[in-house]
Amino acid sequence: MTSNHALFERARQLMPGGVNSPVRAFKSVGGEPFFTARADGPYLWDVEGKRYIDYVGSWGPMIVGHNHPLVRQAVADAIGQGLSFGTPCPAEVTMAETITRLLPSVEMVRMVNSGTEATMAAIRLARGYTGRNKIVKFEGCYHGHGDAFLVKAGSGALTFGVPTSPGVPAGLADLTLTLPYNDLAAAEALFAEQGPDIAGLIIEPVAGNMNCIPPRPGYLAGLRELCTRHGTLLIFDEVMTGFRVALGGAQALYGITPDLSTFGKIIGGGMPVGAYGGRREIMQQIAPSGPVYQAGTLSGNPVAMAAGLAMLELIQTPGFYAEIDRKTRVLTDGLRAIAVELGVPMTTNRVTGMFGLFFTDQTVETFAQATACDTALFNRFFHGMLQRGVYLAPSAFEAGFLSSAHNDDVIGETLRAARDALREARQD
Ligand code: PMP
Repeated sequence: MTSNHALFERARQLMPGGVNSPVRAFKSVGGEPFFTARADGPYLWDVEGKRYIDYVGSWGPMIVGHNHPLVRQAVADAIGQGLSFGTPCPAEVTMAETITRLLPSVEMVRMVNSGTEATMAAIRLARGYTGRNKIVKFEGCYHGHGDAFLVKAGSGALTFGVPTSPGVPAGLADLTLTLPYNDLAAAEALFAEQGPDIAGLIIEPVAGNMNCIPPRPGYLAGLRELCTRHGTLLIFDEVMTGFRVALGGAQALYGITPDLSTFGKIIGGGMPVGAYGGRREIMQQIAPSGPVYQAGTLSGNPVAMAAGLAMLELIQTPGFYAEIDRKTRVLTDGLRAIAVELGVPMTTNRVTGMFGLFFTDQTVETFAQATACDTALFNRFFHGMLQRGVYLAPSAFEAGFLSSAHNDDVIGETLRAARDALREARQD
């Protein structure tokens, strides 16, 4: 039998950090990642046969649990017809009809292959449509690895782009303005100064890449109003929240209509998929109906569309989101009760099936508060849980996800592990 360690040793020789996406390497929590051999329902099994209750869900897509029989059957049926055509295929039309029906703000849509592609295309479109160059993003929000997004504010310089990844040209970084999340006054001040130059404002309507931080009441409505007033496109990056916090995404949950939206994760059902869409007159600027270029050899791939459509079918079951919401509440309430019992300062945030744990005695509504939490305690807790067969996201700054396959027994088992893991972690 091969071991996790032996595989990681081989992988490290051949791939940067031994992985194909950085957070998987366990760098921030320490230790070595496990290698998954198979997954089913709420569980992953590693190559050594150890089972984990999975709260990562492939970073969001697996909202009906792993290896769902109906998704698998849809993929098997599609594979029987061929893997890629390079021509239009019927499933793309059904996918576009489904997305536009479930999200009224999306009148037209373009399929791509990842969330990164979706956000890169959305800001190109915002720039092409408005004829402006600057974009606004929020500190602590992640929109994939496009150059324009790998920028965050230097200390105190919220309006001045500073590249945080080498390789992003300063000239491009300067066009990305960054703001603190959940601070409407800061956004108003920036727009008062630079509004006429800002093509688009992109935001995770529930931040899920600095742990889980919901928008303050009225915040998204305030941004909507600012963007409308200044002729800036409001772009909701719903790669994580889309079909996760509600069937109609965060835009339905909070009742805000963005100009453009980006999607990924759940609409691919576990296959590599992304999408962007929005108002018809804006989307018609995309090639070939308009001049803003964007293309993809594998975009609208028939197998990926089949997986995504099966997933979108399943999440439309009546009561689906109410049940995920209930179970996530049982989990986060249970965790908080254990923390209180053990005298460990801990806060949780939660929006439907998305949650975050913070080791702090404060409520967490900002990037600064999220980054001020006790990450050393989180890391010890993470490893204690892992040892006990519960896989949380391997970073204190990632949201957790529940699926419909996490039943009350699974959550009960998680809470029993958490009591022991937390008791151990607080003593170190
Ligand atoms: N936007 C958001 C909000 C995300 O959470 C992510 C990925 N976690 C992306 C964009 C990028 O998506 P992908 O990894 O599919 O490129």
